[in-house]
Amino acid sequence: MVPTGGGAPSGWWLGAAMPRALTLCVAMGLALGVIGSPPAAAGDDDGAVAAGVHRAAADCAEVKCVALTFDDGPSRYTERYLKILKRHGAVATFFVIGSQVSGRASTLVTMAAQGNEIASHTWSHPALTSLSGGQIRQQVERTARQVAKITGKRPSLLRPPYGSVNGRVLAALGEADVAAIMWDVDTRDWQSRSPSAVFGHIKRETHRGSIILMHDLHRASADALERIIHYLDKRGYTLVTVTDLLGGTVKPGKAYYSGRR
Ligand SMILES: [Zn+2]
Repeated sequence: MVPTGGGAPSGWWLGAAMPRALTLCVAMGLALGVIGSPPAAAGDDDGAVAAGVHRAAADCAEVKCVALTFDDGPSRYTERYLKILKRHGAVATFFVIGSQVSGRASTLVTMAAQGNEIASHTWSHPALTSLSGGQIRQQVERTARQVAKITGKRPSLLRPPYGSVNGRVLAALGEADVAAIMWDVDTRDWQSRSPSAVFGHIKRETHRGSIILMHDLHRASADALERIIHYLDKRGYTLVTVTDLLGGTVKPGKAYYSGRR
């Protein structure tokens, strides 16, 4: 599967940057149970947390939030990502390809049980700008049905493959009742396949409200994930799902590049 790549961020929220103190708020993260929990003992990281576990959603108007996002899964590496996230009490948003879901239903169950957000990356990863409105809605609907069959919940967010959107695509996504989620930090993990290069992008480019693009189709970001979580925790960031990052303001048919700065 050709991964998402390229695409310069623009627009939404990017004009609202303002200086901010990089204060540590580890205590806040611990209180919210979102990031910074002590590592679990070895051997304690297998299996899902009990379904029905709810964390208090972080208020991203109060704390510095960022969202880790993973495209192109579920893959044979996805369980490894989930174990690392769980070990650190962290959550992410997974933009899954519908056609890859049926063989990995248990991975989606674990994903949801750990409090991660499951979002759509279409059924078969086409460039949506090359499809008709009806074909776009079909890509969304087929994936939504597949995810809902497993988790009971339809995704409300979609990441367009290749970041490929235009007004016509957004109108079709609006009719299909999903918002387009872009990114403002591109780790280019699919290209470098280098954990240190992935970490470098995050260190240089992440700010409050960032949506960080990675791919769980490869292992590079999994190899970097522990270091990424520690780094973001130390800089006072709280890891949240994209829906929490956007604070309930998500509207179908709109494109979002980052959250509140
Ligand atoms: Zn992709």
